[in-house]
Amino acid sequence: MSLRKDGNYWYGTSAEDVWDYFVMIKRDSPEPPKHWRQVVCPCGNAAFVVEGGEDEGQYQRTCTACDAQTVLFAEEWSERKEWRNDLPELECICWGSEFEVVGVTAPFMGDTDSAKWFYLGLRCVHCRCLGCYADWIPRYNDAQTYLAML
Ligand SMILES: [Zn+2]
Ligand SMILES: [Zn+2]
Repeated sequence: MSLRKDGNYWYGTSAEDVWDYFVMIKRDSPEPPKHWRQVVCPCGNAAFVVEGGEDEGQYQRTCTACDAQTVLFAEEWSERKEWRNDLPELECICWGSEFEVVGVTAPFMGDTDSAKWFYLGLRCVHCRCLGCYADWIPRYNDAQTYLAML
């Protein structure tokens, strides 16, 4: 584990540190995180520009190497979500906007394969600062299937 705290922020050297960060901050939760997945583009690159917001109800990512555009969890909706051009770009405290993307889920108590909670973890590839940029309650019965749509 190479998590490091500096002031109010946590820094890490790999996507696994993002997972370790969630384990740490949720260690006293009755529903601690159980599953996680890092997004890697089919081209092999793992850095993305991420756009979206809670009010907008949508998040999407663009690969910094091949420009492939993906709407997060697009398949989850009965009406598939389409790419939007009006979503704000997520920014790090260093103003960087290229991140490794890590999804973390926490199951319902007594059902370890489920995904009650979802957390969107991002790690800035410039300054290495990481954190939770969004969370919601998908109430999904299969965490692996849910995370596959990230
Ligand atoms: Zn790519
Ligand atoms: Zn940064």
